Amino acid sequence: MRMVFFPGAAHRKSFRRTPNDGARRATGDAVLTTGVPEAIFQPFANLNRAHGFMSAIQKIKGFADMFGEDSRAFTRMESVARDIFTRYGFGEVRIPVLERTELFAKGIGEDTDVVGKEMYTFTDRGDRSLTLRPEATAGVLRACIEAGAVEPGKPSRLFAFGPMFRYERPQKGRMRQFHQIDAELLGSPEPQADVEVILMLRDYLEELGIGDLSFELNSLGCRECRPHYRAALTAYFESLDEEKLCEDCRRRMKTNPLRVLDCKVPGCKAMVEKAPAIADHLCAGCRDHFSAVLSLVSRAGLAYTLNPRLVRGLDYYQRTTFEVTSGAIGAQTAVAGGGRYDGLVQQLGGPDAPGVGFACGMERLALLMEKQEAPRPDFFLAVTDTREKSGAVDAAILLGHKLRLRGLSGECDYEPGSMKSRLRRAGKLNVKKCYIIGPEEFDAGKVTVKDMEEGGQLSLDIAAFD
Ligand SMILES: [Zn+2]
Ligand SMILES: [Zn+2]
Repeated sequence: MRMVFFPGAAHRKSFRRTPNDGARRATGDAVLTTGVPEAIFQPFANLNRAHGFMSAIQKIKGFADMFGEDSRAFTRMESVARDIFTRYGFGEVRIPVLERTELFAKGIGEDTDVVGKEMYTFTDRGDRSLTLRPEATAGVLRACIEAGAVEPGKPSRLFAFGPMFRYERPQKGRMRQFHQIDAELLGSPEPQADVEVILMLRDYLEELGIGDLSFELNSLGCRECRPHYRAALTAYFESLDEEKLCEDCRRRMKTNPLRVLDCKVPGCKAMVEKAPAIADHLCAGCRDHFSAVLSLVSRAGLAYTLNPRLVRGLDYYQRTTFEVTSGAIGAQTAVAGGGRYDGLVQQLGGPDAPGVGFACGMERLALLMEKQEAPRPDFFLAVTDTREKSGAVDAAILLGHKLRLRGLSGECDYEPGSMKSRLRRAGKLNVKKCYIIGPEEFDAGKVTVKDMEEGGQLSLDIAAFD
């Protein structure tokens, strides 16, 4: 049943891009549609009904199961992340998926869509308001602060991956559980820290084979200069016909006018075109910081474009922000994003330590990666000794165990069958060698090893594998 109902190709079609994807942090937002996985489960439902079984329990709407190719893609993303990030001195941190709601309200910003509309929040039996993490940064920072692992001037480098949750209407075509890879460098305000994080991200995406990458960079200023820019922006929008802005943006005008810059509504986009650019309002410190970042990424051979409209969805970003898109499957698809968030650690009750990081959307990366083939098994242990209780199956199991101790992979028969059916099975499993124990072999303590690639075969003593 394993592969029959979960063909990789059909499941991959369930990954789908949606028009608003670029606007969201780290783009890890789920892009799986809910319709297809449900459809995949139908054969079981029908089978159960036909046989009068109790109806099978189905997964929650907005959540997906991953099998075969999709599962292998996620495994690869994780193992390549471990490899590349370790080279940059990053260590893996494992944190809970459930946190106190106030962490995200404080850490992400009450006025953001994430906190305002999309959090997966509930009250537990102890009457505490808890939230399934909608992103990783706040939790990683909370953990580091709690462990005393954030010290100004002593960088901590951490990465994490796992599921994130946003309670959105499923008809929008986004999953409520999606996955992100997240990296955070805490404790250094230096532009070199930003550059290392960006280079690490590029190395990672290239190692995964994600093609046609483009990097967009911007600086959002700091606590000193951003208020001036914000005022200039507000004055600009007020000088125009505010009615032309969408409803969300009219609200953003009051809460965070920078968010108007990345609104995807055509009317708003037109209004934004002549808006003042943040580059013209940066203080000397921010200008120097940003030019140091740009100069060093260029020297590292990374081509980038400046995007003054790149504000990212969350309130906590300061100075450097970046977003990476790939054109590998047609239109530019956002795959990762991040930036500097000096002040956030303090806002969460920690020391005044700066930070910079990024997140990648794993569903999105999976779409852009090459197909992950299943590894080819080394052997199939076929039992063709059909005599009752001959002990040949036991012999096969013991031989299989010895082969695995030698590092080989494969599976054993639990039930004997005809040579024809066993070889068909070996072919289906696409194994390199088929080990056959028939009645003659069993009586002589031997096994026939058939090379499934070359076609030759030889007879070996089972005892030789001890
Ligand atoms: Zn500044
Ligand atoms: Zn708008």
